[in-house]
Amino acid sequence: MDTIAAIATAVAPGEGSVAIVRISGLEAEGIGRRLFAAPGQQIWDSHRVLYGHVVDPVSGERVDEALLLLMRAPRSFTRETVVELHCHGGLVAVQRVLELVLAAGARRALPGEFSLRAFLNGRLDLTRAEAISEMITARSRRAAQLAMAGIDGGLQQRIGTLRERLLDQLAELEARVDFEENLPPLDGAAVVAELALVRAELEQLVVEARQGELQRQGLRVAIVGRPNVGKSSLLNLLSQRDKAIVTDLPGTTRDLLESELVLEGVPLTLLDTAGIRASSDRVEQLGIARSREALSAADAVLLLYDLVVGWTPEDQVLRELVPMGAVLLVAGNKADAVGLPVGPVVSGEDPLAEVRLSALTGEGRDALVSELLRRCGASPSQGLEVALNLRQRDLAAAAAVSIGQSMEAADQQLPWDFWTIDLRAAIAALGEITGEDVSEAILDRVFSRFCIGK
Ligand code: GDP
Repeated sequence: MDTIAAIATAVAPGEGSVAIVRISGLEAEGIGRRLFAAPGQQIWDSHRVLYGHVVDPVSGERVDEALLLLMRAPRSFTRETVVELHCHGGLVAVQRVLELVLAAGARRALPGEFSLRAFLNGRLDLTRAEAISEMITARSRRAAQLAMAGIDGGLQQRIGTLRERLLDQLAELEARVDFEENLPPLDGAAVVAELALVRAELEQLVVEARQGELQRQGLRVAIVGRPNVGKSSLLNLLSQRDKAIVTDLPGTTRDLLESELVLEGVPLTLLDTAGIRASSDRVEQLGIARSREALSAADAVLLLYDLVVGWTPEDQVLRELVPMGAVLLVAGNKADAVGLPVGPVVSGEDPLAEVRLSALTGEGRDALVSELLRRCGASPSQGLEVALNLRQRDLAAAAAVSIGQSMEAADQQLPWDFWTIDLRAAIAALGEITGEDVSEAILDRVFSRFCIGK
């Protein structure tokens, strides 16, 4: 394979103390030696750091002061010889270094190409490779923990074991297809029971994938309510930052404010909307349009109303704007001003508020957050060890369906080879998760989503 190179560290916003150019392939060491001047008696040994300068071989100009790390095959991430040039951060020097590396014979790496090589050279299975990419994009500590479990092989093991169990059953069935008369009779019921167990485990993984997805991608929560009910105050309370301006004048929060925060390990994007209400003011109308937009884009809606004023027809209008299927939590704010207790509302006590809080004092905040997360199926108590990503989830779901079809064949007492058709499909789907049974086109699709330099 040819030699590839890329900047492996973040290039935007362009500042950082160190930037790394990574080179992998047969020519990596030769290119390193051509471009790197290491003074004194330093030895070019594997896994040893050299100090020196990257020098333009044509002009002799010193381009950067750098460290060079040589990792000879197969003891590297790609299992090829890898050279890393640790340059100064910023954009200019590291770009020059990369250009020199490319001029010296390397090719610019495609996104995920280092990981693809690691996979093709047997260093990683597909679930581990994907977990590395997920680690890089993790937006919360929980997401990073899930990615780490994947890097450790947790997912490969879970799926690999299920696939092995299906392979065992397939082997039994196939033996009967070919040599029924020479073998002891097969206990069809036992096969079906084993298939049912594997299917149940896959279905469980599919359900848990939603949880993992929430922790990876996070939730979009729209905070809606009439003007002055305390939306901005709540946002400030949740983000603990004075991002939104809190004021007594209705309609100040005209634009849609988006804030990113992590609550109990779940990344959230809060969309704070201007009060939705009939209005002749054009600017206000714009706010309304945005609010509708926010409502349709949100996974969950937090509808805030003012306990001092009570539930009004406008609150009712808002409630009816919430799209079908969205998670809705109705919260009564300003509990302090009416002397009501905060927290979840006991049924029958106040049929409108589902939870009460005071955005002013902060009381009831935690109850609100956990109720919201619980309704979105993101309670932190439902701890996950591993979680399938969307690609893996679809394959696991397809495998579960195929197993079900195989069980139907059994139910109808069809010959063994009818059982095996769907079983093979299930095994292939699981093999596509781990990468044991995967086409080049699929690999391209998976790795192209990775970042450059990984
Ligand atoms: P928004 O228009 O919905 O964003 O409402 P604001 O957050 O701007 O709040 C409107 C007014 O209500 C401000 O004067 C806040 O100080 C006040 N306010 C907000 N939350 C509470 C609360 O929990 N208790 C009391 N007593 N006042 C509150």
